[in-house]
Amino acid sequence: MYKRILIANRGEIALRIIRACRELGVETVAVYSEADRGAQYLRLADEAYCIGPAPARDSYLDIPRIIAAAEVGNVEAIHPGYGFLAENAHFVDVCQSCQIDFIGPPLEAMKLLGDKNQARQLASRLGVPVVPGSDGLIEDEQQALEVAHQIGFPVLIKASAGGGGRGMRVAANDLALKSELQQAQAEAKAAFGNPAVYLEKYLEGPRHIEVQILADRHGHVLHLYERDCTVQRRHQKVIELSPAPHLPEELRQAICQDAVKLAREAGYTSAGTMEFLVDRHGNHYFIEANTRIQVEHPVTEMVTGVDLIKWQIRVAAGEKLPWKQHQLQTRGVSFECRINAEDPERNFQPCPGRIDELFVPGGPGVRFDSHVHAGYVVPPHYDSMIGKLIVHQPTREEAIACMRRALDELHITGVRTTVGLLRRVFRDGTFIHGQFDTSYLDRFLAGGACGEE
Ligand code: ADP
Repeated sequence: MYKRILIANRGEIALRIIRACRELGVETVAVYSEADRGAQYLRLADEAYCIGPAPARDSYLDIPRIIAAAEVGNVEAIHPGYGFLAENAHFVDVCQSCQIDFIGPPLEAMKLLGDKNQARQLASRLGVPVVPGSDGLIEDEQQALEVAHQIGFPVLIKASAGGGGRGMRVAANDLALKSELQQAQAEAKAAFGNPAVYLEKYLEGPRHIEVQILADRHGHVLHLYERDCTVQRRHQKVIELSPAPHLPEELRQAICQDAVKLAREAGYTSAGTMEFLVDRHGNHYFIEANTRIQVEHPVTEMVTGVDLIKWQIRVAAGEKLPWKQHQLQTRGVSFECRINAEDPERNFQPCPGRIDELFVPGGPGVRFDSHVHAGYVVPPHYDSMIGKLIVHQPTREEAIACMRRALDELHITGVRTTVGLLRRVFRDGTFIHGQFDTSYLDRFLAGGACGEE
């Protein structure tokens, strides 16, 4: 096991990793930007170094500064968390050449799965279903039109290097496809430095089901079942749960097996996620892989009892996974709500600023993963998520009741948050009965999806 690692991230996930390390007896080196100077969670690390000014490109994304901190801090490994450098193959390469372990997948596996188009082609080769679409990248307008006519409108233009709900555009006809294609390519080049795009059929009202993978360096690839991340706003996840409601056991097994097949073939190690869409007819389609720990990992931890961060660190250090697949089961139901400092009344505009009062819910089955406290100033430079409220209970009904009371207890003043919206969703009949698809939340917000409780 490592003696000391550096955490190349901030906020709740940095704190989550510090906690795992302390329990493992591993020392931690935290890094922070000037905007995060003085944040209380930094005191829980053994050391903390300032790596630059507030903008992420000058601090959390600045590879030389992070490597310098790793050298000064004398660490053996770096945990990247999620976001920032977590899926940056160049960073993995630099770590390797500096003889620092990257706590994540091998470089080749990250490159292969991190490119959405290549991952899709790998899936096709393995017989894992993918959404009907282009056979590889789109070269020009003519080809895009041909593919669209073949699969039928509406189609989705996706950036090969995309992520986080960005780099996707829907087109409903020839004209829209022509103009959206150009814009999608320009946007992808600006956002990801790579203009490559491909086409997929735009599925109407699918569910988003993803599978947690955990693999060691000794050839063991396991799945830790599924998460349902269907409740999204503009393709960004808002509420996640495990297990997925109304998912036939046979389909659940098929999706999990396909996820394992992909991970094994890609030579994957560490924690990772294979994402799928499930259509109204119960067909599943692989859409992409996430080669990192995900925001929503706690729901899997709650139902499986496996600490994913600790196991990421252990397998990076060379330990073997101690289970056979059949020894991993899920128990009960877990929900996670992302708590964002955003103003739902102003189109979810980020709402940074000082948190005046904070009361954190607790009691049986409640977990709050967050670095914030009363007096904490949410900086304007980063993601607006300030915490994750997670519950775990024996049944779905009990989990919903538990989340409702936990959301009612959670009291935050000073910044606007999404808590009020979440309270309403957990009282909406359509949501409670698990009858949602990816358009649910946008319709709910438009006033059209409110079912009776
Ligand atoms: P990102 O990497 O940006 O998160 P994903 O490929 O994971 O993008 O897709 C994010 C979300 O976009 C999905 O959960 C789903 O809601 C929607 N989506 C993606 N592909 C399709 C598709 N072919 N049809 C309909 N919705 C889709």
